[in-house]
Amino acid sequence: MALLITDECINCDVCEPECPNQAISMGPEIYQIDPARCTECVGHFDTPQCVQVCPVDCIPVDPGRAETNAQLWAKYRVLQIAAGNTLSEAIVAGPEAVASGLMPAPSS
Ligand code: SF4
Ligand code: SF4
Repeated sequence: MALLITDECINCDVCEPECPNQAISMGPEIYQIDPARCTECVGHFDTPQCVQVCPVDCIPVDPGRAETNAQLWAKYRVLQIAAGNTLSEAIVAGPEAVASGLMPAPSS
């Protein structure tokens, strides 16, 4: 699932630079997450980086955006292609190959 930022956000600016997908931006009143760009950090990190740094714990998963791990990996691949990045063998092989140890996890 993509994550979302609740109205408990205090606009501390900490999460925005931590997002590897540039999914976080300032909204009309508080920060917001673009669900089309949020992969839960899949493809970059083992855990969502924004959640790790948020001081008020206001970034839950969005229950309206249910996505499988495979779908998050697919979103990651699309973002990489759109950014003009060359896909490594690990990215093309996908999470199964990484999980099995056949491929190293791709770095950001
Ligand atoms: Fe960005 Fe990762 Fe947070 Fe999604 S979970 S908004 S990709 S830092
Ligand atoms: Fe808001 Fe948390 Fe991001 Fe700070 S880290 S801007 S409180 S969502």
